[in-house]
Amino acid sequence: MDDDLLVSRGRSVPHAQPATGYLTIDLGALVRNHQRLSAMLAPSRAAAVVKADAYGLGAEPVAKALYENGCRHFFVAQFVEALRLRPALARDAQIFVLNGLQPGDEEACAEGGIIPVLNSLEQWRQWLATARALRRRLPAVLQFDTGMSRLGFPPEERPALAEALRTAGNVEILFVMSHLASADEPEYEQNGEQLAEMARIADEFAGFDISFANSGGIFLGKPYHGVLARPGIALYGGAPAAGMPNPMQPVVSLDVAVVQVRTVPVGAKVGYGGAHVAQADMRIATIAAGYADGLPRNLSGRGAVYYQGIRLPIVGRVSMDSIMIDVTALPEGALALGSLVEILGPHQTLEDVARDAGTISYEILTRLGHRYHRRYR
Ligand SMILES: *Cc1c(COP(=O)(O)O)cnc(C)c1O
Repeated sequence: MDDDLLVSRGRSVPHAQPATGYLTIDLGALVRNHQRLSAMLAPSRAAAVVKADAYGLGAEPVAKALYENGCRHFFVAQFVEALRLRPALARDAQIFVLNGLQPGDEEACAEGGIIPVLNSLEQWRQWLATARALRRRLPAVLQFDTGMSRLGFPPEERPALAEALRTAGNVEILFVMSHLASADEPEYEQNGEQLAEMARIADEFAGFDISFANSGGIFLGKPYHGVLARPGIALYGGAPAAGMPNPMQPVVSLDVAVVQVRTVPVGAKVGYGGAHVAQADMRIATIAAGYADGLPRNLSGRGAVYYQGIRLPIVGRVSMDSIMIDVTALPEGALALGSLVEILGPHQTLEDVARDAGTISYEILTRLGHRYHRRYR
């Protein structure tokens, strides 16, 4: 993207860009976040979790930038995501499928050089059979459930798995892993319980490397690190844990254009359902993004946007394609058609928007819409 088209807050949109919202993804900050986590983990390593299109930021540009910075381990959730990402990365990049494989996907997975995370005896047997049929040695990761009841071998399947591993044939286990349910709440006892369960697994399956920590887990300290951590949200600038200042650099900013400004008299109804009634004469600006662009409808009457550092509350309901904001705090004429207001940026973090919407930063990121003009820096 041309830098003279670079959109600066408080200036209007050059007409060369046919968009009314601008999503800027700072790949430099992404790489610095990965470096920071890597430094905390050393000599263990930081993978990158790039599932759900790298939390909405673009799996390909994100993974490429991290690969260039030395990252070699990439986790997606679904096999289809791995297939899409595979051609973008060199062969020495390993791509892991957290959900494992659906029956029938095994051969394509083997052919594609993609590594499944096996979560059950059934997935294990299918992968073993595939290795046998293809007469090839195939890599895999084993995931254990240490107390989340979501994915992975449950405790009662461990004896059978241990037995099966004695005749593992052509499947090569690269490492074993588990996932923390409450790593973003450092004080919560579930972390210690899962750590203790992981230690039992390390005893029962001695000799395997361990991958345990997500973003929050990295900040729980060395015992949680294993040899390979799997950060996602922290790479993208989200806070890894509650109750501490966010040490990560912001990666995403979002600016949206004003499409109309008006003055309304006291008593005027604003938006669908007349959900807001003007308590005094006020100036309203309508901006060109709504819930179809991933701005939760729960921001109705609660969230805000910023213009030159001034907070402008959302009034009335969030519409599909637009939101009304109270701009009475600004001098008349400060905002015009095409002026840009900040939704994510120096004055408003992901966590701020998530809190106002009653959700988490992950959901805000992964729902960011496709009508924005995306700029990678
Ligand atoms: C999503 C996910 C991660 C990344 O979690 P963050 O909290 O975003 O760091 C790591 N491991 C597994 C198994 C996951 O599903």
